[in-house]
Amino acid sequence: MTNKAASSGSSNKISTFVLAVTYITLILSIIAIVAGVTAFYEGFIEVTAYLLAIGFIALALSGYYVFQSRKHVATLKIETPKILTTIECIKCGIKSTREFQRGDYVYKELDKCSKCEDTQVITAIYREPTLKEKEKNPTA
Ligand SMILES: [Zn+2]
Repeated sequence: MTNKAASSGSSNKISTFVLAVTYITLILSIIAIVAGVTAFYEGFIEVTAYLLAIGFIALALSGYYVFQSRKHVATLKIETPKILTTIECIKCGIKSTREFQRGDYVYKELDKCSKCEDTQVITAIYREPTLKEKEKNPTA
């Protein structure tokens, strides 16, 4: 996971280039297939075979790249950092962290503390540090 995070920045430019090439390949493959069908109706069976072969290979290639880029987008979504909420008891100071929930805000009062039954308060809402950030600053 660390390797992917490090390479995602540099691969952005490449993926844009690949996307452009993919679309050009897709358009050319469609043209080749259409030309192949036209050649078939005009009686050029050999030309049809070549054009259809080129067309379908190009179509398969561009389809493969589209599939790959979708996979890339999917992995990016998974890497979205978690938002965490820190809950603290006012009285005994017991701290707990859970995933951010809609409606959370700092100083919001929550259910009673499990230890002293005093009110618990949200003291912090923050983005979970990435693996890289944790390595740099382990105390954070
Ligand atoms: Zn407490």
